[in-house]
Amino acid sequence: MTKSLSHFISGKPVAGHGDRFGEVYNPATGEIAAKVPFASAGEVDDAVKAAAAAFPEWAATPPSRRAQIMFKFNELLDTHRDELARLITAEHGKVLSDAAGSLQRGIEVVEFACGIPHLLRGDFTESVGTGIDSWSVRQPVGVCAGITPFNFPAMVPMWMFPLAITCGNTFILKPSEKDPSCSLRLAEILTEAGLPDGVFNVINGDKVAVDALLEHPAVDAISFVGSTPIAEYIYAKGSAAGKRVQALGGAKNHMVVMPDADLEMASDALMGSAYGSAGERCMAISVAVAVGDVADPLIQRLTHKVSALKVGPGNDPESEMGPLVTGQHMEKVISYVDLGVEEGADLVVDGRGLTLQGYENGFYLGGCLFDNVTPGMRIYKEEIFGPVLSVVREPDFDSATQLVNDHEFGNGVSIFTRDGDAAREFTNRVKIGMVGVNVPIPVPMAFHSFGGWKRSLFGALHVHGMDGIRFYTRLKTVTQRWSTGIRAGANFVMPTMK
Ligand code: NAD
Repeated sequence: MTKSLSHFISGKPVAGHGDRFGEVYNPATGEIAAKVPFASAGEVDDAVKAAAAAFPEWAATPPSRRAQIMFKFNELLDTHRDELARLITAEHGKVLSDAAGSLQRGIEVVEFACGIPHLLRGDFTESVGTGIDSWSVRQPVGVCAGITPFNFPAMVPMWMFPLAITCGNTFILKPSEKDPSCSLRLAEILTEAGLPDGVFNVINGDKVAVDALLEHPAVDAISFVGSTPIAEYIYAKGSAAGKRVQALGGAKNHMVVMPDADLEMASDALMGSAYGSAGERCMAISVAVAVGDVADPLIQRLTHKVSALKVGPGNDPESEMGPLVTGQHMEKVISYVDLGVEEGADLVVDGRGLTLQGYENGFYLGGCLFDNVTPGMRIYKEEIFGPVLSVVREPDFDSATQLVNDHEFGNGVSIFTRDGDAAREFTNRVKIGMVGVNVPIPVPMAFHSFGGWKRSLFGALHVHGMDGIRFYTRLKTVTQRWSTGIRAGANFVMPTMK
């Protein structure tokens, strides 16, 4: 029997009213596992009304009390780790250990949010003028919405809502329609942790729900993570409607392998970062830039390792790489592999045509490796979001750095080298938001902020860390004088503090 999912509004599940539904798959078997309701604008309005009604009391709740609920949530997450990781694997397909790792990265944001009383402390200046003091406070923005992608069904929502709600906002999450169950479970756990009804709501759906959030006058801020065309749309439409918007987009992350790099270490790093989670990570490495004479020995090592990659269902502990999220996405990735061949790149390892006994209808694609990819090719320029690694050969450090900087996207990058000078020069010059030195996937910790440059981010602020606090609060500065008995009369010049 196919499960029917719901929305989550005002502390309880709410069934979809309309007749529009999406299908959620088990990517390992290809079966339809659940039906998810697609909200109408009216259902979105119900969620916004619930969040707006809960806002005044929640905003007035002391941060230390909000932190206590986060501590309880954190404790409950710990006891539900396995269950949540299994939910991620069941709908996304990634291997269980990877699902657990991504959940952990989300939990780290919850831990950071537990420090909210400290994080919200303002600045105070005594005597900005005679008998006058001034201070700044950070107050919540209002009703915030988060629109999230399929590839991290727990972690990406957790980049947003722990900070949004501990800052005193109420929140509506519109998770990916491809794997929404984890968000619904997180909502239940938050309620169990003591979060008041209406502070956190989940509305399921597609573009109709997203547009309703973007157009709703009572929604004050939008956080988005997903592909670049949609990020750009969300940023333009949300900002035009007067909302505060941060919209994180797609990526094409390069790893520059210098001639002096430890090749065994670099090729292992490429394996994990290109094929982990079947390449469906915004921080996946999809381009290896082989500098100088490193290309041939690198390709040799990679060919061997990619051919030996163990592909299988995510809940099999032997699997290193699971299936892709849907059949449609798998077809899209395969069409890019076909395109690469047409464009003249050398397909050194071909993962197409893989079938697994007992899982013939699952969405599997083996690891694919291209050599001699050039910057003019579409497989170089566009985000494929699958287990496809392209090797571009560059003669030297300067041309490799230029290649990275010329790309449209600027999410993550890494350099593998034993030369500290090259590493320092690279980190300084590169136009990318997150940089690794001998670290393949430089995902910042929760207490730093996460975000890209160029067309990987629309908006001024990154997510989590102190940028998260800035995004989910409004700064207010108070300047105060208590009467000193001085009566100077009306003053018609610009006040200066004397
Ligand atoms: P997507 O852009 O298709 O969808 C993201 C969200 O937008 C979903 O909730 C979806 O329902 C909604 N959406 C889709 N089409 C829409 C439309 N036309 N109008 C309004 N809303 C729409 O992304 P995806 O396929 O779910 O996720 C993969 C993408 O996300 C990749 O491009 C990846 O790089 C990116 N991503 C980026 C980061 C980052 O931090 N920069 C992190 C994770 C994923």
